[in-house]
Amino acid sequence: MSEQDTIFSKIIRREIPADIVYEDETTLAFKDINPQAPIHILVIPKKPIPKLDDSVPEDQILMGNLLFIAKRVAEEQGIQNGYRVVINNGPDAGQTVFHLHLHVLGGRQMKWPPG
Ligand code: 5GP
Repeated sequence: MSEQDTIFSKIIRREIPADIVYEDETTLAFKDINPQAPIHILVIPKKPIPKLDDSVPEDQILMGNLLFIAKRVAEEQGIQNGYRVVINNGPDAGQTVFHLHLHVLGGRQMKWPPG
């Protein structure tokens, strides 16, 4: 297992199960195992970028795609009334899995500011 091999790499390789809601060549989206809202989906690149800070210029299109897929997943999940897209970058932000991911949260009223 390489340093960049996380639980999400295992989900990509189907070594552990996940409730996958979207997949294409570069992107995977699946339900969070510990949902913080009625709808809580994680959108990840298949490329193992540990965190947003580690992205490089060649990742720009990939990262734009992630945001677009987040919108698409939200539509498919029926949360157009409002949803939140979150990236936790690094320990102070509470990042626990070091494979870049977007949280798509919806199905309840969100509070602002976030904790
Ligand atoms: P972070 O705290 O790094 O921003 O978010 C990591 C997220 O991954 C958490 O919301 C956590 O519940 C989720 N997670 C951790 N392990 C697994 C897993 O094995 N399967 C799924 N589906 N989600 C996971």
